[in-house]
Amino acid sequence: MSTAPVKRTSIPNVAAESRAAFAAWVDAHPDGRHFGQVLIRPESSGGYRLCHAEDEGATGLQLYENPRAAREIAKLTGDGEYRPLKSAPNLRRGWALLAADAGDLVTAMNGLYPSAVVHWYLYREGSLDITNYRENAARQSGIYKRVQRLTDQGVQNAAKACCEDAVCLKKTLWDVDEEIPLEMNRGEGEIPCPEPCSVFVSFARRVRLFERENKRDLDAIGLSPSEKEDLSALVEAAATGEVVMAREAEFEKPLNERRMRYRRLTLIPKLRPPVANE
Ligand code: SF4
Repeated sequence: MSTAPVKRTSIPNVAAESRAAFAAWVDAHPDGRHFGQVLIRPESSGGYRLCHAEDEGATGLQLYENPRAAREIAKLTGDGEYRPLKSAPNLRRGWALLAADAGDLVTAMNGLYPSAVVHWYLYREGSLDITNYRENAARQSGIYKRVQRLTDQGVQNAAKACCEDAVCLKKTLWDVDEEIPLEMNRGEGEIPCPEPCSVFVSFARRVRLFERENKRDLDAIGLSPSEKEDLSALVEAAATGEVVMAREAEFEKPLNERRMRYRRLTLIPKLRPPVANE
C-alpha cells in the first residue's frame, strides 16, 4: 500500500481556511511577518498594521483604515508608473494600513498581491495545482500562439530574465514540462507562482521573436537586428548620461529591464566568448 501523501482534490471553503491559516501565521510572530514587500504586524489591541517593509519604524506615513485602499496602493510605483505585475519588487512606500481583523487583513493582501494568500495556503497544504510552461502555452491563442514554438532553452532564459527575485518576488514553482525543470533561482519569498502569468507569456512571445531572428537574420558578425537595436539604444542613452528604462511590460522597447536581463544571458556570451584554457 502506498504511503505517499494523498493530494486533496476538493477543498471546502478554501477562502475561509486560508484566511484563518494566514491570520494564525501572522499572529504567531508578534514582531511581524514579511509577505512580498509588506510587513504585517499584529496589534496588541487586536487587528493588524501593514506597511512597506522598508518603512518599518518610519514616521509620517499616510494612514489608511479601509482595507480596499490596498488595491490603490498597489496600482502605481513610487514614480507613478502603472504596475502590471503586482509581485514585482516596486511596491511604493510611504503608507500604513490598519486592518481590523483577519477578514480585513486578507482583503488588504488580496489588493496588494492578488490570489497570493490562497496560493500560499494551498501550497502549504500540498494542494496547489501547478501548470507547466508547455501546458500553459498549449492554451494560448491569437498572437500568443507562437509561444508554443519557444525552445526549451528559450523558456529557461525567459524565466531567468523575467521571474527571478530581482524582478518578481514570487517563488517560481512551474517547470518547462513534466520532464524538464527550470534551472534558475526560484526565489526565497512566501508567495508561490503556480503557472506562467500573462506578463511572462508576453515576454515569452518577444523571446520567440528573438529566437526566429537568430535563426535567419544574423549579420556577418553574428548579431541579430534587435541585438544591434538594443546595443545602439544603450550607447545612445549612456552618451546622454541618462539611461531611461522602458516601462515594465514594454518588451518591444530596447531599454526594458527584462529584455536587458535576457540579453545578458544570450548576447554577452556572443560578445565575450569564453577563453579556452591553454
Ligand atoms: S510567471 Fe514569473 S513573472 Fe509571472 S508571477 Fe510567476 S514568477 Fe512572477
